[in-house]
Amino acid sequence: MLLSQPDFVVLDWNGTVVPFFGLPMYPGVADRIQVWKQVGIKIFVVSHAHQSEIAKDVARTKLPVDEVHGCNNKGPVVVDLCRRFGRGVLLGDHSMDFRAAQEADVPFYQAVFENQARLSDGVQEFRSWEELATLLPFGGKVS
Ligand SMILES: [Mg+2]
Repeated sequence: MLLSQPDFVVLDWNGTVVPFFGLPMYPGVADRIQVWKQVGIKIFVVSHAHQSEIAKDVARTKLPVDEVHGCNNKGPVVVDLCRRFGRGVLLGDHSMDFRAAQEADVPFYQAVFENQARLSDGVQEFRSWEELATLLPFGGKVS
């Protein structure tokens, strides 16, 4: 079932947008984020990292994100984003991303780029950002 357009998307960073700090973004990320921004979806990065470290790597990629949050516990950060901005979706690859989505009661999509195990029964996976564009097609295709 397709979701209606959310107010924002929360991105995990390592394993979801880039393989790791300093490495190129996965194919299709920049195009998809640009499309979402164009239809008014806010983009937030929430990473299990020091603020300075994640802020520096996000700036490196020039991805047009609205806020960057480095933290030890993602759940409260996502809860607060929901309070401030409305309805969100969370994209991540790790069990702590899944738990944060559950805590904030937002839909979760698991990035599975390296044949990782599914985090839980019924979790929606995406194996590429191109596939994610089909699962969450807000803003349409990249022209
Ligand atoms: Mg990750």
